[in-house]
Amino acid sequence: MKHITRRTFNSLTTKGLLGSTLLGSIPFVKGFTAGQKNKKLGIALVGLGSYSTYQLAPSLLETEYCYLAGIVTGAKEKEALWQEKYNIPNKNVYKYDNFDTIVNNEEIDVVYVVLPNSMHADFCIRAAKAGKHVICEKPMAISVAECDAIINACNENSVKLAVGYRMQSDPYTNEVKKYVREKTFGDVKFVSSDAGYISKGNTDQWRLDKSLSGGGALMNMGVYSIQTSIYGAGQNPIAVCAQEFSTRPDYFKDTDETITAQFKFDNGAVAHMMTSHNANGNRLKCHCSEGWFELDPAHSYGPISGITSNGDILKFPYKMQQALQMDDFAKHILMGTKNVAPGEMGKRDMIIVEAIYKSIAEGGKEQLLSLGDMGIVY
Ligand code: NAD
Repeated sequence: MKHITRRTFNSLTTKGLLGSTLLGSIPFVKGFTAGQKNKKLGIALVGLGSYSTYQLAPSLLETEYCYLAGIVTGAKEKEALWQEKYNIPNKNVYKYDNFDTIVNNEEIDVVYVVLPNSMHADFCIRAAKAGKHVICEKPMAISVAECDAIINACNENSVKLAVGYRMQSDPYTNEVKKYVREKTFGDVKFVSSDAGYISKGNTDQWRLDKSLSGGGALMNMGVYSIQTSIYGAGQNPIAVCAQEFSTRPDYFKDTDETITAQFKFDNGAVAHMMTSHNANGNRLKCHCSEGWFELDPAHSYGPISGITSNGDILKFPYKMQQALQMDDFAKHILMGTKNVAPGEMGKRDMIIVEAIYKSIAEGGKEQLLSLGDMGIVY
């Protein structure tokens, strides 16, 4: 049979010229109209650890615009289990060292990198060079320079890029973003946000190894506090100062344990964030000129819980955040809708992470930030 390129395939499916025999088991998007691609996008997960196993793969059974088409793993024993559970053909199973041959696989449209943080840049860049759209888990990378390298690789290869910021697709989060935008409770004056948990596992886990994690609580949970501080205030900060606290140095030998930081915003709001691997925290509270609103929990897998000074209790239908997130990205690719978590957002957060570490290194000195809006719509 003549080889069909992705472009030809998309054009033929759009015109309805490919029959079901040729298309085999590739799933279709229900209700697509003429002019839209009607193939569900095939996603390949890279790294089959805890997050892929318990969140991403199950949520890909709920997605409407994408499905789990392939896996990339270093663990031979996982291959058969995943293939059977998710109906993945042999030709869509890759190892880390033959990953680049994914360029030849027309069934994989998106590569989702779910590896330890220091491996994100390498695999995202390789995915982009293979012509695949990219989702990169948070934190996007372990330095701003790596974020730039990922963004450039995606631009050079004309593929789309998103960060795995599931909260950007969460309905509770989007409701409070609307409060901020529409000044439902007046001007935001003070934002408080916490993101942490108590780490108890083995000390040889990669999250406690700076060479793999890039840092401790700040890299792992801190990006949630940075994000909540920003969408709580409704704009990027103009300055930050930060402090670090260490109470279990024998356990946290290589990475930060607890960090607090304060942000200033151009609209007059200020924010205080706490992130920790030694204290629980999962909250956003916005104090405004005419009331307040709160999410607690604010960034766990859901459902999120929200209340306001009006006595409202927020309630939205439950769907896995990861399913909403991956569908948002698939719709961005298929229909040109807004990319709710672009690479620039991951890079912005890494600029702030680096400024926080610099402030700590300089004894809490304020660091000025020149972020502008970085093209991110709130
Ligand atoms: P994990 O330890 O459970 O899985 C990591 C995977 O990477 C494993 O399959 C492991 O075999 C593989 N791996 C390859 N090389 C490795 C190496 N040198 N050292 C260690 N593991 C190696 O981790 P996880 O919780 O699945 O996290 C993976 C990524 O997903 C991280 O970037 C993390 O920040 C992110 N994450 C995001 C969320 C979210 O809510 N968005 C939640 C959890 C994790």
